[in-house]
Amino acid sequence: MYDLVIIGSGPAGMAAAVYAARAELDFIVVEKDISGGQILETSDIDNYPGYQNISGFDLAEKFRAHAEACGTEIIEGMKIEDFKQIEGGFELLFDGAKTIETKTILIATGANPRKLGCPGEEELAGAGVSYCATCDGAFFKGRETMVVGGGNTAVEDAIFLARFCSKVTLVHRRDSLRASKNLVTKLQSLPNVTIIWDSVVEKINGEGRVSSVVLKNVKTGETTDYPVNGVFVAVGTKPNNLGWSGKIPCDESGYFIAGETGETQIPGIFAAGDVRTKNLRQIITAAADGANAVYRIEQYLAEMR
Ligand code: NAP
Repeated sequence: MYDLVIIGSGPAGMAAAVYAARAELDFIVVEKDISGGQILETSDIDNYPGYQNISGFDLAEKFRAHAEACGTEIIEGMKIEDFKQIEGGFELLFDGAKTIETKTILIATGANPRKLGCPGEEELAGAGVSYCATCDGAFFKGRETMVVGGGNTAVEDAIFLARFCSKVTLVHRRDSLRASKNLVTKLQSLPNVTIIWDSVVEKINGEGRVSSVVLKNVKTGETTDYPVNGVFVAVGTKPNNLGWSGKIPCDESGYFIAGETGETQIPGIFAAGDVRTKNLRQIITAAADGANAVYRIEQYLAEMR
């Protein structure tokens, strides 16, 4: 039986691994895809101390290399299905019916992009509708794109796309952006960016590829058919809570209820990073969560003995 199984290998999971290794815990990291998490899809990171500017991919590589140098075993392609409580801990069930026994679990599974939920979005996903400007932006060189949202991701995406798209339109449902001031200033300085305020996407049109978006002004009720080649949806994220919200208490948005120690309401199960309730979801807060959770897990394991 392991001391700890860390689920997820983004910043929270990798920081937790470094701390677990230093604490000489018997642990593994399991990851359903390839390791790295959400930051693999972030172009420029300039707010992680020690790096004035680094790509998400490069930072993820550094996190992984650091964890592995400490002796961390990362098992990729292992999708978790369920868990059950057993004497002294938990049994984790993976697809393919493999099981692993552990005294504690740290869930560091992060979050996924939220959808608009309008007609045309699902049908045209991958055919002009994208949730990752860093991944798909290059396909829209010299073309007209739209970014939906008003947070840091939306503004960063618009700035990124403006480097090579002929025109970028940012559509936001309110009349002010929640993104950081420095990003907003940069966005507003770009000649090929237009901002449409107080508007929501009613429908995405296209025969096989996106051709236009129907926008509705929420103040006037007026609708407009706006021609674009691509729509980048950046309206926040939803937690990757593994469908366990019925087994481990979550808040109304599905994030695991856990404080700084990462303790969920199930003794022995901890949550760290974007998947837990918190005010600020950043790489640095995710990494800090991983450290804090393992510190508490060490105490928990000592109390078990
Ligand atoms: P976010 O901060 O939650 O912003 C989501 C945006 O989408 C908000 O402007 C929201 O509008 C809008 N929105 C939500 N649902 C919508 C809908 N159905 N239709 C239209 N608009 C909708 O999400 P985020 O930008 O992905 O950022 C997530 C977290 O990561 C944040 O803490 C952010 O600061 C952080 N982040 C940081 C960086 C960085 O520092 N470099 C980069 C990216 C992300 P309202 O404003 O009206 O609520």
